[in-house]
Amino acid sequence: MIFLKGPGSISVKVPPYNLNKYYSNGQLYLQNKLDPKEPESIPDPDFIDPPQLFLCNSVGLPFWCSNCRSIKTQRAHHSSKLGHCIPKFDHYCLYIGTIIAQNNFTWFLCFVMCFEVLFIYIYVATFANSRSVLNYGSENTLHPAAIIMVACNGFFSLMLLALNFSFARVFKFNETSVDFLQIGKAKQYRFKLYSKRKSLRDFLFPTKLNRDQTYAQFINTQRYVNVEHPDQLNIRVVLPLPENQHPFNKGRWENFIDWFRKYDFQTAEEVVVHEETTFSNTFKSWVFQQVKAGEGHIFGSADITPVTV
Ligand SMILES: [Zn+2]
Repeated sequence: MIFLKGPGSISVKVPPYNLNKYYSNGQLYLQNKLDPKEPESIPDPDFIDPPQLFLCNSVGLPFWCSNCRSIKTQRAHHSSKLGHCIPKFDHYCLYIGTIIAQNNFTWFLCFVMCFEVLFIYIYVATFANSRSVLNYGSENTLHPAAIIMVACNGFFSLMLLALNFSFARVFKFNETSVDFLQIGKAKQYRFKLYSKRKSLRDFLFPTKLNRDQTYAQFINTQRYVNVEHPDQLNIRVVLPLPENQHPFNKGRWENFIDWFRKYDFQTAEEVVVHEETTFSNTFKSWVFQQVKAGEGHIFGSADITPVTV
């Protein structure tokens, strides 16, 4: 079923967001030249109106896939092997040889659980028959097959245990392994920039990056959200996200259920509407609160705001 279902694909291509007016208005706003009655820009069929908020890079632009010629919506990542973007890309499973993402994650979960039950059964069966296992042949030695079996079982059980931690994180924060790796990297670069202490990772694997390169890496791995200004019309703000913010976390049950949903979009507008709903209400109110407090930078300005907490 993991293969039959496949990781999923994006059914509709999403054209670039129409951000020109926000960009130029942002620049006018910073110079105090913004006319509040300025007419809205003329709709362009090659562009689409952006959602209220979306994940973006440090300057506030959405992530674009040049292969698929579409905006990467639904937290998608491009697979060069499959030749298209995959929504909610979690990881590439070496043992099964396929990508685990939105469509086949639940089947992968079932697959792992079946193996866990099998390993528990092997442990129970080995201990239930411990008398014959311990008294192999005429001498009091362990059965060689039992030793190999318990060793293999132990190895695979540990691997599954690690996977269980990964599942727990997925359901707790609604963040995929890809998200988690990115957050981890940003944390590592931030630590290098702002902490006087050396992290264990730096001590074990020293890197030759200078401060500017580390800063550039930090800006590249840092997550940002581009959001409509709650008070100013036609202005957008680029806000950096601290690692402790989980934009898609809607509670464990809702996070779990989301993997079972089948999304079948017909138009790009439907995808854009869906993009807004992927963010939790708690996160949205946190974002508006931050913007009102003057955090982040106006979309259209040359500034880049890193998180320094
Ligand atoms: Zn792509």
